[in-house]
Amino acid sequence: MFKKLYIIDCRTEAIEIRSVLLLYLEGEKMSDKILAINAGSSSLKFQLLEMPSEAVIAKGIFDRIGFKDGKVKYQTKRNQVQKNVCIPSHEFAVQVLLGTLVESGEIHSIEEIVGVGHRVAHGGESFKGSVLVDEKNEEIISDLGDLAPSHNPISLSVIKSFKTHFPSIKNVAVFDTSFHQTMEPVHYLYPLPYSLYEKFHVRKYGFHGISHAYIAETVEKIFQQEEHAKENVKIISCHLGNGASICAIKEQQSVNTSMGFTPIDGLMMGSRCGSIDPMIIPYLVERQKMPIHEVKKLLNEASGLLGISEMSNDMRDLIQAVTKGNQKAILAIEMFVNRVAHTIASYIVDLDGLDALVFTGGIGENAALIRSLVVDKLQVFGMSVNKELNENGSLYIQDANSKCKILVVQTNEELMIARETYRLSL
Ligand code: ADP
Repeated sequence: MFKKLYIIDCRTEAIEIRSVLLLYLEGEKMSDKILAINAGSSSLKFQLLEMPSEAVIAKGIFDRIGFKDGKVKYQTKRNQVQKNVCIPSHEFAVQVLLGTLVESGEIHSIEEIVGVGHRVAHGGESFKGSVLVDEKNEEIISDLGDLAPSHNPISLSVIKSFKTHFPSIKNVAVFDTSFHQTMEPVHYLYPLPYSLYEKFHVRKYGFHGISHAYIAETVEKIFQQEEHAKENVKIISCHLGNGASICAIKEQQSVNTSMGFTPIDGLMMGSRCGSIDPMIIPYLVERQKMPIHEVKKLLNEASGLLGISEMSNDMRDLIQAVTKGNQKAILAIEMFVNRVAHTIASYIVDLDGLDALVFTGGIGENAALIRSLVVDKLQVFGMSVNKELNENGSLYIQDANSKCKILVVQTNEELMIARETYRLSL
């Protein structure tokens, strides 16, 4: 009996000593792991990162949550798995994710994760930065659900399932609105009765703040490394994806941005209309007898590039259709480009100049055609693109005569969430 116990003890000890030695020999130092979560209405994207090195250990997505034809993608340095599987809820996805991280050996136990960072769409005026989610903050995020009914409740349900099933892990909320809390009233107020702001908090909040903040930080670093280092650069960040917004940035702070009270405002998007005459809505409801829920659906899901082209919300499809002479696709792209250029022009006024125009997001990073069409419209400001640089994946794409730098930078919202979470979890 004793002998057997002794053997087990020796073995356990040997294993422990061996792992300590291996760590020492490999020069591996203890590091903290942070999980970044980006939950949408029917998806949950994740990245597990090692901090402070910012190395990605695992990443992936649970897609089509709540539908029969769900999909999971899970990628590590060593392998990549893709599976079609029914994912009934976000809570289910969280449990599968943490189980998989342990079973695949990426972590030995859940306790290795020091913090989970959650992208939360709306922080209202309550959150000017990221916060640890204690009971009080959880309540405020829940109350803000009135301003973001299709976003905040999802993030909150994911936070709650982490708190319930893995109470030892700290949860951090990183808001898409926080970065824009530096806007002045002249930019965030609508010309409506002031009492609507006081009573109902009706104002511009702006979104995509995590991405715009990442761009601000990254471009500032790039400029500081240059020969003629320049600080406090004036930046216009164009996040052009399925959802799209532009942000004017000075001294690393948001001065103005194109999304508003909700993420539908501003630019023309994949299927969102962007800014339109507000009287179109009562006209459709009262005169055309369209129920309000149908109008909301039409503005969010059947407008933008999809609405005009009548074929797709995907820029790749439209660019392809243009090569075949599809007139509606040409019109949709022209309208998209016009709105982007108009917004950039107005932000040059807000910033009183410009040092760097930055393209990011799926379209901004990949569609050279759209970048060149946008900059062509801005020639009056002395901006021009170098065709070769624009098409060969360079960081800088301006030509020698351009008065400001033009950059293409890949955004990384998950990294930004992880940085904030690490900072608050220590
Ligand atoms: P989301 O807002 O959903 O995060 P993304 O940032 O992923 O959107 O961007 C999606 C958009 O990027 C789509 O319109 C897609 O067509 C466009 N896109 C992706 N790759 C390319 C490409 N190579 N050329 C043109 N457009 C592209």
